[in-house]
Amino acid sequence: MDGSPADVFLGVAGSGQVSLEAPLSATLVAPNASLRFEPLNPGEFAGSFFADSIYQAEPGLTITHVPFRHWGRVFGPVPKAECVTVQNAVTRSARFTYENQLETSTIVPHGPRNHVTPTPPPGFEPPTEFLPGVHSYWVAFEGDEVVWQLDVFRAVATLDLPRCELDDFPTTLRDPDLPVDSISVSRPNSVVLADSIPDRPPVTEFPPIGSQPVSALGFTGTVPFTLQLTELRPRPDGAFASLDVDALVTLDGVTRERDLWDCGGIGEGCIIGPIPIDERFTIEPANPDLVSVRIRIIERDTFGDDVEVDVSFTVNPKTGEMNRDSKCALAGDGWGVCWDFFTTQPPPAADFRPVICATFAANFFDSGFGEDHLPGRLLQHVPASFARAELRTSWDGATVWSGYLDANGCIPVHPETDHVLASALAFPASSSDAEVRLAFEPRFCRAPDGVAFADPPNDDSECLAAGGILWNVIEVTSGFSAVLQNDVLVPGVTNVSAKATRIPTFSAVLPRLPAVQGWVFPLHVNNLADQSAAGGGPRLDDVSRVAAASTQILRTDDAGIVAGRYEVIANDACPSRHPDIVGDACVTGGVLWMGPGKLGFTDENLRQTRWKYVLAHEAGHLIQQRAIGSPGSTGYEFSNIPPGCPPSNQVTNASGNVVCADPPGTDALCRCDHVEQSNKLHCLQSLETPGSAQLEGFGQFYASKIWNRRAEPDCTFVYYKEFLDQQCRSAECSTVTPAQPSRFDSLQRSIPPVAVSCATPPRWRNNFCAVATLGTEIDWMAFFWRLHGGSGVTLSMADINDVYLRACLAECAQRPTAPGCMLGRCVNDQAWDELETAATEAFGLGSPKQQHFANSGLAAGVSLAIP
Ligand SMILES: [Zn+2]
Repeated sequence: MDGSPADVFLGVAGSGQVSLEAPLSATLVAPNASLRFEPLNPGEFAGSFFADSIYQAEPGLTITHVPFRHWGRVFGPVPKAECVTVQNAVTRSARFTYENQLETSTIVPHGPRNHVTPTPPPGFEPPTEFLPGVHSYWVAFEGDEVVWQLDVFRAVATLDLPRCELDDFPTTLRDPDLPVDSISVSRPNSVVLADSIPDRPPVTEFPPIGSQPVSALGFTGTVPFTLQLTELRPRPDGAFASLDVDALVTLDGVTRERDLWDCGGIGEGCIIGPIPIDERFTIEPANPDLVSVRIRIIERDTFGDDVEVDVSFTVNPKTGEMNRDSKCALAGDGWGVCWDFFTTQPPPAADFRPVICATFAANFFDSGFGEDHLPGRLLQHVPASFARAELRTSWDGATVWSGYLDANGCIPVHPETDHVLASALAFPASSSDAEVRLAFEPRFCRAPDGVAFADPPNDDSECLAAGGILWNVIEVTSGFSAVLQNDVLVPGVTNVSAKATRIPTFSAVLPRLPAVQGWVFPLHVNNLADQSAAGGGPRLDDVSRVAAASTQILRTDDAGIVAGRYEVIANDACPSRHPDIVGDACVTGGVLWMGPGKLGFTDENLRQTRWKYVLAHEAGHLIQQRAIGSPGSTGYEFSNIPPGCPPSNQVTNASGNVVCADPPGTDALCRCDHVEQSNKLHCLQSLETPGSAQLEGFGQFYASKIWNRRAEPDCTFVYYKEFLDQQCRSAECSTVTPAQPSRFDSLQRSIPPVAVSCATPPRWRNNFCAVATLGTEIDWMAFFWRLHGGSGVTLSMADINDVYLRACLAECAQRPTAPGCMLGRCVNDQAWDELETAATEAFGLGSPKQQHFANSGLAAGVSLAIP
């Protein structure tokens, strides 16, 4: 053997004994064998020796340890695909890890032994130096999968992998607000608020349904009509020997005779009544609206026949209406007969339209401030628009109908199937335990704006395949991200795959309605609250509230939602260990999380799901992220450089450094000092970089869009953090002496919920902050509302997205290898002039939309001009 023992490697895969019968300079590995150093002279061995056991080392041998130089070639780094983030319709990013079990770095150059397919964009090549331990490697890609080949190992990242979590993102790529946008509601004084805000009557926005009388149902066709004699009352007739009692029944002029009773012919043998009988006479009526009936009871004896009862009446066979009060006829001498009538099969009902609608229950706390939708604070039944549902009958367990409810939360009216549906749901009134049950789930499907499904999808996969929006509300049943320990909120299970989840089922039984001709039909049911809770009441909790708010988002016109799957976790917090984020709502890994909030465990009013503006704000982030990626944002922190910020503005960031929440030197009206119960890094009125102000302003705008009617001139935004102003804007305020600098010595701190107009631009930056290169959420909220809402020329959500995509493309054209551009989003803030340029490109200089964009920027005070 030649060469240094540090360069020579011998491996023995077999078991048994390996005998070294000659001097050896090498590294020998025999993991399954025992090793025997034979007695030799000279007995010199150099290198490293590894075996299951050393069988024998003879005396007189010299063994010199020389470490092997190329362990990396033998125990090379092992790649693994961990998670995938879907940035938008085209761009995805995957996180790989590798593990190098050695204590030294290993080099694997790019080439056949180390490459990624498809070829990654510049800046995303795999590493060539593999550090000891476990490390991450991120790559952007397009398509369904990306493969990292590393030596003999092949790691494949597909869209089936879990979504990446916040903690997966390297800090250099981590957006300070997205993927995590943590919101926790500030503590309101609920006692004061409950007294001061009148509980508006709950509003349930159902389509009006006229109440049709049963007789107007419009049954058509021929239905067999059956008259049933149910009881006979024989009496003495003064004659000596009754032989027999018969019935003559005439239906529509056709008479039939039937024996009712055989008296035996001796004495007054017939006098034993009343007697239950069951004699039926069936015809197919010539007139579907009227059957004439005559019943005669004939007593026959040895002296002749007597007509003891003779009664005539008419019946409407559709409705069962009869032109006499009683279904019994009694003669003066005590003879009598009773009857009933019914149809032997449900009447066909061609014009019969059972409108069956379902609701979710909700009770929002930030309700009743002037917004248009769901303004009640008490329990409201909210239409289960677009929810998946199944209608089942109890008698055969069959699914009569399944699919997605319409925009009104009702089983879609289908002219061809109404009739079938109605007949299938009818059951005999005599079946006391029969019921028809609607089961429905917060699993929603709708076509994108302006599109109608050619064929209604029946399930999730059909919804996605048809280009629909699939929106699932998910309940976590164990493995919560935030838990209470000794009354302190601490991180729970932050690994998403370790959580147990489900999409819960709600259900309701159709009310049992008055029978028609012996059959119970499902009449119009437009207030079918679910009865899923124990005791049969509506289920009212995080899930039902998130489901209710989701339906409002989904039935909003021009909601700006692009096709694809959306997941909303109704009752679990942002999966993060960050102490400031525990319990919060956020969007991370493409999923919306609604946490309990920092105080939701101790105050039911502060559960985040009770704040419909929080939910719609986060939905706005999710929807915008999916449509265009996130707008660029360089963060919320500012360095604490002279003149410095007051202590009340200082925060400790993730790196442990003390920074300022707002630019040093900013006036108190443009800072977040007054936000004490939640994250003060950004608030409605604080100076932020343009990208952050746009990102958050868009979220506030989106919430306003969801809860207000777009075309109306007014708009109410209800804020969930404290607000600082010269006037008190909520039910409870405290007087504050602001830290310097402040143009006012005394200010009012309004406690949430705080109602703010989104239609009247306050021009907050220009009036109070006057820094043209920065922005505030409140101004950008007003800007977006002005663009999109009101009358006259407006921009659609697609128009707004178009402007951002163009601005981002322009930026990324300048810096194509910027990681954010590769991950499908801009990195830098988009300044006003960049957006205005993009708008001019999108709509054309001088076009109504371009002018509306420019004018809105001036009106809302987000342009670079400070008049
Ligand atoms: Zn946000």
